[in-house]
Amino acid sequence: MLLKHTPEEITERKALMINPAKTCQPIGAMYAALGVKGCLPHSHGSQGCCAYHRSTLTRHYKEPISAATSSFTEGASVFGGQANLLQAINNIFTVYEPEAIAVHTTCLSETIGDDLPQIFDKAIKEKKVPEGKTVFGAPTPSYVGSHVTGFSNMVKAMAALAESSGKRNGKVNILPGWVEPSDMEELKRMADMIGIEITMYPDTSGVLNGPLTGKYDMFPEGGASLSDIKESGDATGTLALGEWCSAEAARTLDSRCKVPCSILDMPFGLAATDRFVDALRTVGGTSVPEELSRERGKLVDFISDMHQYFYGKKVALVGDPDQLIAMTEFLVSIDMCPVHVITGTPGKKFEKKIKALTESQEYEVNVKAAGDMFLLHQWIKNDPVDVIIGNTYCKYIARDEDTPLVRWGFPILDRQGHQHFPTVGYMGGLRLLEKILGVLLDRKDRDDSEMTFELVL
Ligand code: SF4
Repeated sequence: MLLKHTPEEITERKALMINPAKTCQPIGAMYAALGVKGCLPHSHGSQGCCAYHRSTLTRHYKEPISAATSSFTEGASVFGGQANLLQAINNIFTVYEPEAIAVHTTCLSETIGDDLPQIFDKAIKEKKVPEGKTVFGAPTPSYVGSHVTGFSNMVKAMAALAESSGKRNGKVNILPGWVEPSDMEELKRMADMIGIEITMYPDTSGVLNGPLTGKYDMFPEGGASLSDIKESGDATGTLALGEWCSAEAARTLDSRCKVPCSILDMPFGLAATDRFVDALRTVGGTSVPEELSRERGKLVDFISDMHQYFYGKKVALVGDPDQLIAMTEFLVSIDMCPVHVITGTPGKKFEKKIKALTESQEYEVNVKAAGDMFLLHQWIKNDPVDVIIGNTYCKYIARDEDTPLVRWGFPILDRQGHQHFPTVGYMGGLRLLEKILGVLLDRKDRDDSEMTFELVL
C-alpha cells in the first residue's frame, strides 16, 4: 500500500496540491520544438530544469533528447540571462549547426523578467544568428499553466513564423496537438488516403519513434520543415486539433495570414474521428475513400461485438484536457461510465465540457481542472471504478485499489508502444478498445468462479 495514507474523507484544499496531474510548461515547449526539422530546443534557465525536462521526455519516448540550456548561475539569476542566451545562440549555431533554435523560458528567467524578443533582436543585430537560420521562442513559466500550455505557446510561436504571399497554395494545415509521433503518422496517413496535401506542425514522427540505425543523428530526418511552416500562411485552411493545444496557434495563423481555421476535438474515438474526416474532406474539397470507410466499419464492428463487456463499466480518467474530452465522448458512446475525470491543466471550460458530454447519463460525474492525483484517489476510494485510464503515475492508485489500468497519455514511463501504435483515428480507436477490453477481460478471468470461467468470450 504505497498510498495507504490517502484518506477517504475529502477536505477542501485551496493552497495545496498533492501529486499534481501535470508537469512543467517547458516540457511541452521542448516536445513541440522537437517536431521541427533541424531545430534544437533551448531552455533559458538553469541546467537543472533542462535536465529534468530532457529526462522526462527521454523516459517517455525512449529516445535521446537533445536540448541546450542557458546554464544560469547566481550571476544570471541576479542580473538577468541575456548574456548567457546570446553566448548560447552563438555557440549552438557554431558547434551544432541547427536550422533553428526554439527557446523556451523557465520559472527563473520569467521571474527575472528576461525579454526573449529583445534578446533575439540583439542576437540578430550582433550577427550571432547566421543568414538563413531562425531563432524563435515562447514564454513558459511553470508557475502558471502546465506542460499543455507550454506546448501550445511553442506551437503559437511556430505559427508566428508563417508568412503570406497573397496566393493560396491549396494545402491544409493540421496542428495535431500533443499526440504521440505514431498519432502524427496516422493523421498524415489519413490525410493522404483522402488525397489532401497537408502541412503538419509540430511533427515528431521520425524524430521520436525512429529506427535504431547504429548511428547517432542529432537532427533526425523527421519533423516539419521551416520552409513548410513559413508557407503555412498560404494554406487554404487550418484544422487545429484540441482547443488547449492548438487553438491559439490556429488563431495566430488566421489573424496574421487570414488562413481560416476550424478548432476540432482530437480525433480519439468514433465520433471525433468522423468530425475530423468530415472537416478534412470539406476543406480539401474531396470525398472519403472506400478504404477509410472500411476502417470505420471495423471500429463499429468491434464496438458492437464487444459492447456487453463495455456496458456500464465505471472509468476514472486522468490526463490532458484535449485528450480527455475526446476520450469521455468515446467512452459515453460505447456505454461506459466515466465517473471521475481529472486534469492538472487549469481551465474551468474543461469542467463544463465534460459535464456537457455526460449530462444525459444517469450517473454523477466528478470532474476537476487543476486537480491532482490525490483527489482522484479519494474519489476512487469513495466510488470504486472498473478501470483507470491514464499515465504511469496511476499505477500507484491502481495497485492500492486493485483496479485495472490502461496506460494512455503522458508520461508513460514504464511501458513501450505508444510511440509506434497510434490511438487516433479509426485504427487508433481499435487499439484503444483492444487495450481497454484486454484489461477488463483479464480481470473477469481472474475473478470468475470455476462455474463462470469461460473459454470463449
Ligand atoms: S517548475 Fe520551473 S524551476 Fe522547476 S523544473 Fe519546471 S521550469 Fe524549472
